[in-house]
Amino acid sequence: MDNQSVRWVAKTDLLLGALALLSCVVLLLPQSWITRNVTLDLASYTRSIYADSVIGGNSQAYAVSGHPYKWQCQLREGSPDPFCSYQISLIGADGKGVDLSKYKTFTIDLGYQNNAGNVRVYLRSRSPEYYVVGDLSTTKYNNVGLNAKLLNKGPYAVGLADFSVADWWVEEKGIPPHYSRPDFHEVLYIEIQTSDHVLPSEYVYTLNSISLSGPIIPQKTMYQGLIALWIGAIVLLLLFRVLQLKLALKRNAKYQRQLMNVNKLLNIQNQQVEDLAKTDPLTGINNRLGIRQAFHDGLANWQSHEQPFSMILLDIDDFKKLNDQHGHDVGDLVLKEVASTLISNVRSSDVTARWGGEEFMIVCPNTELYQARIVAENLCAKIANIGLECIPKITASFGVASMTRDDLDHLFKQADEALYAAKHAGKNRVMLAPTSGLVGVA
Ligand code: GH3
Ligand code: MG
Ligand code: MG
Repeated sequence: MDNQSVRWVAKTDLLLGALALLSCVVLLLPQSWITRNVTLDLASYTRSIYADSVIGGNSQAYAVSGHPYKWQCQLREGSPDPFCSYQISLIGADGKGVDLSKYKTFTIDLGYQNNAGNVRVYLRSRSPEYYVVGDLSTTKYNNVGLNAKLLNKGPYAVGLADFSVADWWVEEKGIPPHYSRPDFHEVLYIEIQTSDHVLPSEYVYTLNSISLSGPIIPQKTMYQGLIALWIGAIVLLLLFRVLQLKLALKRNAKYQRQLMNVNKLLNIQNQQVEDLAKTDPLTGINNRLGIRQAFHDGLANWQSHEQPFSMILLDIDDFKKLNDQHGHDVGDLVLKEVASTLISNVRSSDVTARWGGEEFMIVCPNTELYQARIVAENLCAKIANIGLECIPKITASFGVASMTRDDLDHLFKQADEALYAAKHAGKNRVMLAPTSGLVGVA
């Protein structure tokens, strides 16, 4: 794994660690820290007090003067269900109620004077499914019954989950069962009403406060958020991994290309070094090393296919004298001229080399002695025709031999002896190897 990959892994591990920590904090957070409490500002809502007298009963309810949240109830027999009601309207300027569905707890602080009578708290809501515009009796009667003794002890909290929908409302309005569950999405009224079976008497109630509490973020939303965060993190992580792998592949491909280029360059350089090692620096033709392969190929073909194989050895005549008379540089120039004359007058299958000093060799694969002799005679004539301003004439002596036994040294020796014979016979001529009968051509 390279350094960049290690850094990526460290970063993603950090992200996962941070997410795990956040999840723990969210799951273990004390409820009170993530709970909001809202106390209704009673003064900002309109209130009304009424009793069963509005439907023909004998009960009466009055506000107690000087105290806006205190009312007196004179509960009298006369109606089948006598009651007094204190109603707080939550309807805002826009004509809509208040969404209490996000709260979990409804807390009421209701004080008594005189007798204690149980009460029923209604949270009357509406929804297009059952609410008939203009008919307030079609608001849903979500209610809970509260015992007076419990209420008298101070603020009393009741869960919204403990509310139920009044049976009489469901039956009277013909509400289908699936709409008969409590619903707090748009509550229009909070109503505090004397409970059924409260005995006819006089009761005085004081509403001190109503408050609601619930989670700032609903638990379901919180869990959904956490799951979404995890899924998002994992998707991101996978994307990063894919990206990382792609980049790594790209990098590797690049390294591979670079290596291949380096390899190619090295091969070219190797070839160049090899060529240099096989080349004579002065004349640019093969040196002894460069011609070696041609020896071996010729020998192999002679051995396996009985192909004829010949060799021409030549030596420039009186070269020392030439050097002495005209200088070493002119000597070099002559060597180059002779080399280029040889190269441009041999067959493409022949291989030419500077054997050393002013001596040259031509190996002639698949060539009989008589053919090699023709080549040598032609070269002898061409060298004699080299016209350099400072030198009247350049000549060379040639020894030609052909392979007669399985021995390269013998072939060379034969050619060398023929060359020696050519020198001895007066130079500027071609002589064949002794085994073929020394023949000189002037
Ligand atoms: P022969 O006709 O019998 O061959 O006599 P020669 O003078 O050609 O032969 P010899 O062996 O006496 O002299 C060869 C000379 O070639 C001696 C040497 O200084 C010279 N020589 C060898 N290599 C080079 C070279 O690279 N450049 C030059 N200018 N001269 C060279
Ligand atoms: Mg010599
Ligand atoms: Mg010589």
